[in-house]
Amino acid sequence: MAVITNIEATQVLDNRGNPTVHVDVTLEGGIKGGASVPSGASTGSHEALELRDGDPESFKGKGVTKAIANVNGQIAAQIVGLDSTEQKKIDEAMIGLDATPNKSHLGANAILGVSLAVAVASANDKKLSLYQYLNQISALDVRPALPTPMFNIINGGAHAKNNLSFQEFMIIPDHLKRFSDKLAFGVKFFGQLRELLEKKGMTTMTGDEGGYAPDCKDNEEAIEIVTEVQEDVHLGLDVAGQGPTNPEYWQKLVQKFPISYIEDPLGEDNWEGWKKITEALKKERVLIVGDDLFVTNPERFQMGIDQKIANALIIKPNQIGTLTETFHVVKMAKAAGYTYIISHRSGETIDSFIADLTVAIAAPLIKAGAPNSQNPERMAKYNRLVEIEQELGV
Ligand code: PGA
Ligand code: ZN
Repeated sequence: MAVITNIEATQVLDNRGNPTVHVDVTLEGGIKGGASVPSGASTGSHEALELRDGDPESFKGKGVTKAIANVNGQIAAQIVGLDSTEQKKIDEAMIGLDATPNKSHLGANAILGVSLAVAVASANDKKLSLYQYLNQISALDVRPALPTPMFNIINGGAHAKNNLSFQEFMIIPDHLKRFSDKLAFGVKFFGQLRELLEKKGMTTMTGDEGGYAPDCKDNEEAIEIVTEVQEDVHLGLDVAGQGPTNPEYWQKLVQKFPISYIEDPLGEDNWEGWKKITEALKKERVLIVGDDLFVTNPERFQMGIDQKIANALIIKPNQIGTLTETFHVVKMAKAAGYTYIISHRSGETIDSFIADLTVAIAAPLIKAGAPNSQNPERMAKYNRLVEIEQELGV
């Protein structure tokens, strides 16, 4: 038993200077756990609702004081006194209290803050590393394992002020074994890319996820620049639904470049198009990844499984709003043979919860942005993974 004695939410700021929810949970005996909630910019329209104040006088309407008040008021009234290790019971109590399909009454940001902080407090209480505790309560029956990081080294779309329509150009160092070697590779590559951009007289300004944001002739030129650093580097793209809809375009692109990962090539409601692209790209051994399409939502994901759409999905806890529902979707993915990938959001804090979550569920890949020392909100995840590597002795 670890009884929750206090829950307190605070408005903190993310990397974009936008407000977000931070929650601290205190247990009997004084043990605490805290978590900060991330926030997207190219959010899927089917995501759970992020409650913002909408007051134009305060943070351009992006304040989260209503969500904070919901944590400190209604949620605390329901959750204080419960056993913090009963994650499922706590998450279900909040879902019941909210009583809307998209968590629009209390706000998914309010609910998730509590859900994550409860887990952190419980891990602290049990003197377990967070990934060990999450591994236990996930009941996934996997051994904790380190992921391959997909470094988003060129930013476009809604994450940058440049003219690239694709949102993320990533490198995937899956030719290396150890996580710390993959990180070192990413840092070196990122430095070499900077030098190349400087040589070409292109800007080295960066976007929201820390990657460079040059203007290019088109998306292909950005890919060419990356392969100019190293010809055979494995590439991933997040198109965020802003790409051509014809499968031939994608087939040609993956035949021309070493692309092994394409996220959201099409819009979130184009199920027919997704079906065609999945069929066309399956032969090319590419991961076709649903992010805004599935939004970590069991109903939408089930529709995809039934129609054999995509072969991988992004898992973002704040798209659905509780840790319990997140584990449920991962379980579905495991059963259906889909590759699951944990992802940060473009709006992040130095909270590194997703690093532990990735290891806990043995996700083979993580998206956490550029390996850019100017972006502590991204490096926090990578550094935590290095710490876990050390602890696991692998
Ligand atoms: P977002 O973008 O966090 O701005 O929604 C991330 C993604 O699309 O993967
Ligand atoms: Zn995405």
